[in-house]
Amino acid sequence: MRELARFGVTEFVLLGDETSPPALPISVRTTYRPKMPAAQDVLEDRFLLCEPGTMLNFNLARFLAAAVPGRSCVASGTGLSLRVQAGSQPPLSIAVASLPTQSPRPALFLDRDGTINIDHGYIGTRERFEWVDGALEAIRMATDAGWHVFVVTNQSGIARGMYDEPALVTLHRWMVDEIRATGGNIDDIRVCPFHEQASVPQYRRASDWRKPAPGMILDLIARWSLDPATCVLVGDQPTDIAAADSAGIASVLFTSGNLVDTVAPLLGRA
Ligand SMILES: [Mg+2]
Repeated sequence: MRELARFGVTEFVLLGDETSPPALPISVRTTYRPKMPAAQDVLEDRFLLCEPGTMLNFNLARFLAAAVPGRSCVASGTGLSLRVQAGSQPPLSIAVASLPTQSPRPALFLDRDGTINIDHGYIGTRERFEWVDGALEAIRMATDAGWHVFVVTNQSGIARGMYDEPALVTLHRWMVDEIRATGGNIDDIRVCPFHEQASVPQYRRASDWRKPAPGMILDLIARWSLDPATCVLVGDQPTDIAAADSAGIASVLFTSGNLVDTVAPLLGRA
């Protein structure tokens, strides 16, 4: 259910024989109904119907990417029905609000410029965003393998007044949508907009989030209850590696032209 909430599920309709619903460790609205067919009246046009045992056995990102808004999606069987905003853009706040308290999943931290997109310098709009070869494929492979994927990116272009935070949010929303459309997922993003020589006063300061400092990585480790021993960062600069070292996680310098060549071995799929 936590996995589904991360992908924009806004309400769970639980079907069962009990007189009251079970306590759920998740901050998503739940409705408890007796078994089908009595529950059919609460199902709307957009819902995902799946058997509990199958829920985590497929790549949900790919499944929802293929879902058509306004049409029903049936994964298999009966027992648990879910209304989903198929094809919508679930905000990261939904994911953040429904985090697991414990996560045994490994995590891939990706630098952005020079790792996910070609570093043309200060990229704040999609018009200047060009994917690195293999980036979408590498992220999909990590998602398929059950890994969390995070982005940690210095964005001094904000401090320099070249673009603002809302523009970057828009760009990243588009970037995540593109990634999800190919079956991958980005669980969370950390951005450092600060720089000591900023032209925009509000961003003119040193920050322990700016790589090579480890702040962004440490924040994600804490927020997602990650085990540092199962985290690895991939970035194209020595400052990325230094940040990972300071955070106490493994890292690999991305030097080849295709991100799959670097990520696949980390997933045990070389
Ligand atoms: Mg970089």
